[in-house]
Order: sequence, then structure tokens, then C-alpha cells
Amino acid sequence: MKREPLFIDGKLNAGKCNDCGVVRFPRRDYCNYCQSTNISEYLLGPQGKLETFTISYMKPMIGRMKPPYPYGVAIFLTDDGQKIHVIGLIDSQEPFEDVKIDKGLILIEDKLLIKFKMEAD
Ligand SMILES: [Zn+2]
Repeated sequence: MKREPLFIDGKLNAGKCNDCGVVRFPRRDYCNYCQSTNISEYLLGPQGKLETFTISYMKPMIGRMKPPYPYGVAIFLTDDGQKIHVIGLIDSQEPFEDVKIDKGLILIEDKLLIKFKMEAD
């Protein structure tokens, strides 16, 4: 299986099953719902919403973020209303007052990491 890029034109590179319509990120060669291999490119974002987050005090496995940093689950909506959950780092400075549940966020394109920036109030 070849590795797909995380981003295309600032949006997440997801896949949509042409048989059952399920969208999945990260994109795979098969549908984990119906096992079809008939998958098309489907781009998510760049705008989403923060569902929940935590503050990590661990050094990340990859990247150069210095702890502590917020780490969250974002929701990206598809055209047909599917909610796709995506985990990523949140670009914010202590005390992280801009990071709020249900607040809008925007993807930050990167080669290795999924990062978000919170929308301004
Ligand atoms: Zn499917």
C-alpha cells in the first residue's frame, strides 16, 4: 500500500467509498465499512470544529512542539453530513485560553503532522 500525502491543497486527503459513501481519513485503498476497493479522493476541511482536547506534557513522537501543548479531536463535516473525527496538535501558546470546545478551527498544512489553529473570537 502506498503512503498517501496527508494534505492536498490545504485540505485533508480523505477517501470516499463509491459503493457505500463512507468517508474515511486517513485515506486507504479499501473501505473499512463494506470492504470495497472502489475509493475516490475526498478532501476535508480546511475548517472544522474542536470536539474535545487535552494538554500533553509529553514530548511528541515527531515534530518539534515543546510541552505542554494542547492536543485535540476535531470534527470535519462532509457534504452529506458525515462527521469525520481527526486527532491533531493545536497551535496555541500557554495558557491556551483560545482553545475551547465547539470553537471553529482551521487546518495548518504540514508534511508529517496534523495541526490546527483556533479561529479568532
Ligand atoms: Zn464502502
